[in-house]
Amino acid sequence: MNILVKNDFLSTEVSNFVRAKHYLFINNKKVLPRSGKTFDVLNPANGQKIAEAPEAGPEEVEDAVRAARAAFESGPWARMSPNDRGKLVWKFGELLEKYGDELAQIESLDNGKPVTYARNVDVAFSAELMRYMAGWSTKILGNSIPVSLPGDWHAYTLREPVGVCAQIIPWNFPLLMAAWKLAPALAAGCTIILKPAEQTPLSALRLADIIAEAGFPAGVVNILTGDGRVGAALVEHPDIDKVAFTGSTEVGKLIMKGATSNLKKVSLELGGKSPAIVFDDADLDVAIAGVANGIFFNSGQCCTAGSRIYAHKKIFDKLMAGLALEAGKAKLGLGLDPATTVGPLISDEQFGKVCGYLEAGRRDGAEVVAGGSRWGTEGYFVQPTVFAHTTPEMSVVREEIFGPVVCAMPFDDDDLESLARKANDTVYGLGASVWTRDIGRAHKMARRIKAGTVWINSHLPNDVALPFGGFKQSGFGREMGYEAIELYTHVKTVAASL
Ligand code: NAP
Ligand code: MG
Repeated sequence: MNILVKNDFLSTEVSNFVRAKHYLFINNKKVLPRSGKTFDVLNPANGQKIAEAPEAGPEEVEDAVRAARAAFESGPWARMSPNDRGKLVWKFGELLEKYGDELAQIESLDNGKPVTYARNVDVAFSAELMRYMAGWSTKILGNSIPVSLPGDWHAYTLREPVGVCAQIIPWNFPLLMAAWKLAPALAAGCTIILKPAEQTPLSALRLADIIAEAGFPAGVVNILTGDGRVGAALVEHPDIDKVAFTGSTEVGKLIMKGATSNLKKVSLELGGKSPAIVFDDADLDVAIAGVANGIFFNSGQCCTAGSRIYAHKKIFDKLMAGLALEAGKAKLGLGLDPATTVGPLISDEQFGKVCGYLEAGRRDGAEVVAGGSRWGTEGYFVQPTVFAHTTPEMSVVREEIFGPVVCAMPFDDDDLESLARKANDTVYGLGASVWTRDIGRAHKMARRIKAGTVWINSHLPNDVALPFGGFKQSGFGREMGYEAIELYTHVKTVAASL
């Protein structure tokens, strides 16, 4: 097996890790699937095989669920004080920092993303979130509630962990999505079976060692690599209490159906087609840089990517020219090269899908302001692309492309209701941004948009303290902030007749 990347970019440690034999992680033990099956892990920069990952089968799903159940019901984790639990989660965050450079290289190699962003965004945010959630473990409170029943009563609520959780995550931010899922579940006292995406299993495989080093008791976190069948088996398993999923709306619907067998709790973070609304009084330098980042960051593979621009006709051409300039500035290349700002798409499949949309946009009459085709001759690179004068019925405007492709449409009146109708003309509702110097208009617009997050004069930034999630077919449940703790706990009422 060859790791076909320039060796000067890859540390020996990471190179050795990637080449090594990989194991599932069940009950704090590294195990091989009984079937002996593996699947290939590919480098998206050139399509070459870089590693083999173990493919969990039904027996390993059983083992992992049994381990997670046992750890939840009895043993050190079940008895652990909130303070000690918080210390473990904090330690997890510290170790993510300690191994940050290595994790960033693994992530960049496996996903293709620029290593600098992997280090400063994916790894840094993951560590920060662990530390943030560690603090909540001692602050998960119930209420004491006065009641009006006849007699003398003492009534109160307890907020308890929901139990054994299956967490199924996508390939666009493999480590960060693992952290978004693990941090609140651990802080709340749940146990977990984590299923990374088949395209990007490497950082999750590396996490197994970090989880063991942090000192989590056996069975608290179990990691099963494999494809969607592993996910489906978890979703249908009768002894799992909750499934948390990030990925496509299509699979999200399958997950809701699968979870009906035992009425698991479900939270879904799905796709988006997020609008960016630019008024004529916006600071255009800020808007151009922010709107460009909102769509080109991570090669457009962000669920909140700002993929529909509505811009006032007075500034429309200026904005387009600015975006074309930004698109031209992008340095496409190998993610491991520190100079790269835009990496490849994740896979041949996504590459084909995004190229299909480039064709569809042109065929439907969109004006190509920048990009419009693949970049280079190998790997899954797509040029940052700006389509102008698109119309609402075009597939590039309606469907989630999940690539560095944005559609722009001018508007010529400032009626907030009609703008909101345009912004909300989508089955999704994950994010949106409003660009203006008029704060009254900005907040009025924010109220009218049907989305889980509205940014003003910004697009994309998330914070560990800010709840994140969808309206409509972008899903439900909120990650981060205290809302994430609520997602992994349920309320028990205790009513005592004195
Ligand atoms: P996907 O199929 O939704 O995959 C997400 C996760 O779900 C992966 O771990 C996947 O496993 C697993 N999975 C697949 N089928 C399953 C099933 N029946 N039951 C349980 N789990 C299952 O995403 P994709 O096919 O890779 O990407 C397709 C589109 O999804 C993208 O073009 C994009 O539009 C959207 N997407 C959205 C996000 C987001 O952040 N919201 C992230 C990624 C993709 P395997 O991959 O191993 O089969
Ligand atoms: Mg899929």
